[in-house]
Amino acid sequence: GLAIGLVGLPNVGKSTTFNALTKAQNAEAANYPFCTIEPNKAVVPVPDKRLHELAKIVNPERIQYSTLDFVDIAGLVKGASKGEGLGNKFLSNIRETEVILQIVRCFEDENIVHNEGSIDPLRDVEIIEGELILADIEVLANRIERLKKQAKADKSAKAVLETAEELLEFLGEGNLARNFEKADSDEYRQLNNEVRFLTDKEIMYGANTDEDGLLEDNEYVKVLREHAEANKCELIKLCAKVEEELIGLEDDEAKEFLDELGVEESGLEQIIHKGFDKLGLMSYFTAGVKEVRSWTIRKNSTAPKAAAAIHNDFEKGFIRAEVIAYEDFVSCGGEAKAKEAGKMRLEGKEYIVQDGDIMHFRFNV
Ligand code: GDP
Repeated sequence: GLAIGLVGLPNVGKSTTFNALTKAQNAEAANYPFCTIEPNKAVVPVPDKRLHELAKIVNPERIQYSTLDFVDIAGLVKGASKGEGLGNKFLSNIRETEVILQIVRCFEDENIVHNEGSIDPLRDVEIIEGELILADIEVLANRIERLKKQAKADKSAKAVLETAEELLEFLGEGNLARNFEKADSDEYRQLNNEVRFLTDKEIMYGANTDEDGLLEDNEYVKVLREHAEANKCELIKLCAKVEEELIGLEDDEAKEFLDELGVEESGLEQIIHKGFDKLGLMSYFTAGVKEVRSWTIRKNSTAPKAAAAIHNDFEKGFIRAEVIAYEDFVSCGGEAKAKEAGKMRLEGKEYIVQDGDIMHFRFNV
């Protein structure tokens, strides 16, 4: 489903990062009784300052954030695709996620050995991505054998076979499927729908640095950043240990800490926000006295689809939506005044919901 999979070599700070995410989950858990807590999954609130602005106006009993799912993927080590470590159970776990967050060690610490003997972010990235590529090669090679048989009788299978063979060569050169030049072709799409290539997934790098590295990129972060830019991947710098501490702080303490570092958002917040965006998600709000709440939808959803986030009946019986843009709601000082000022719109079935819209649905039961 719509989740972010956390991968990384041993001793890079993956568990520390995942712990920080789990703490963020637990801090809000009381508000999410419907979320089952699983050891390798963190359901994390998506921080959104706009909810606090709305709450100042509406004074609700509670605030509910959108959430984002992270899955801790165990067992991705050198040789994993050949069955070393936990074997390739990691494959099925990654397949279930849509975006990969790769934690990469960018800190030195003599007391914490690196599995490969030295600190070298690019080598680490190559190991992890190499395992993913090998896994893709294996499934693709199997697919090609079957396509060869089909191609004898079926012209369209022949075209797919040709693309598959080109892709196999491309992967064999150490490339990610997502960078395949024919990644936009129908043939590639068909293959990817069947096989779901691991290296087709978007990759975000979590550059795990020490506290000093937060102020200024160290050499490790610099090379990783160059690599990320060359490959059009997102890089987020964090210090996993600091992230764990930040979660325990009061808001103003945390803000002071971040001010000292000269950043607006903590690394973890950046990961959550970028991840939400990479999954193609956005939020709209409902603002009532019981709760001010953020609802998660896919970008470009119509009003009835957005209504289904609340309840399926809302979609089936959809009549229309009353919509106030976030800025109008806040600048007018609430629903009633926004209405008076003519800022409330009635929208129909075709309306594409905008990020931050405050929605009220009219529906038949
Ligand atoms: P994992 O094997 O990747 O899950 O690694 P862990 O999260 O367990 O981290 C391995 C060790 O590195 C632990 O002792 C952490 O406390 C330490 N560690 C994690 N992040 C940092 C960091 O940013 N700086 C330093 N100095 N140590 C860290």
